[in-house]
Amino acid sequence: MNQPLTNKLALVTGSSRGIGAAIAARLAADGASVIVNYAASPQRAAAVVDAIRKDGGAAEAVQADVSTAEGRKALIAASDQAFGGKFDGRLDILVNNAGTVEFGPFLEAKEGAYERHFDLNVRAVMELSHEAAKRMSKVGWGRIINIGSAFGEGVPLPGVAIYVGSKFAVNGFTRALSRELGALGITVNGVQPGPVNTEMSPEDGPHAPLMISRTSVGRFGRVHEIAHAVAFLAHPHAAFVNGENINVDGGWLA
Ligand code: NAP
Repeated sequence: MNQPLTNKLALVTGSSRGIGAAIAARLAADGASVIVNYAASPQRAAAVVDAIRKDGGAAEAVQADVSTAEGRKALIAASDQAFGGKFDGRLDILVNNAGTVEFGPFLEAKEGAYERHFDLNVRAVMELSHEAAKRMSKVGWGRIINIGSAFGEGVPLPGVAIYVGSKFAVNGFTRALSRELGALGITVNGVQPGPVNTEMSPEDGPHAPLMISRTSVGRFGRVHEIAHAVAFLAHPHAAFVNGENINVDGGWLA
């Protein structure tokens, strides 16, 4: 079997379900040893790890709330210990996937909405990228892949202003950071999903018909379709792709 990511450590934030779980499974199938990070669902993370191992892959679950400085520190420390310490001091592939959204009119935004969106969707992405870049620059190879959103480039419906602000920030950060790290052997890219059927965005939810109408393929995306784009960016042959945000959005932004 062709496993281009053998002997690479991959960390996928927020991978106990949804898009993150599919990314973890796909990178493990491609040979990476994968840290399955989660904040609140140990059983789900364990199920993701079990499924990866059953398929012959390597994975370990790590609980850590990446929206906090302590959580990020604990996550990196646990990654160093994982897999018997085999990857101590390394981090080859970072997928910043964990994210949150609170739909609703801006004038009715709840107390703490800015912190909840920006601490997780933006600050965690920046701080974990910083730690990853330090490690990757030592070995001269790395992949930082940020899961933004089609809402990070276009705004087809109201009620998402704070989330959109956070995802535009991820889009800009991805492109700007690529300029600094490219010469060090580290690529920084993003994947911007359109509507994908997960608990965050169920295809039978109230906004679904409007979202589907904005795509040209006429449906919600599937988590493996996002994971496929991440696997492309993680592949050693993608070394010449840098500062790119790939829209996997069913034609939403065309
Ligand atoms: P989801 O179904 O809500 O899953 C979110 C994942 O993140 C879960 O595994 C959750 O695990 C974890 N998580 C939440 N808060 C965390 C924290 N503070 N620290 C660590 N892990 C945390 O979301 P999704 O739909 O798969 O979305 C994944 C990413 O894609 C997000 O960045 C989202 O903005 C983006 N996206 C999604 C869509 C879509 O249509 N689904 C579209 C565009 C972009 P626990 O519950 O265990 O904490």
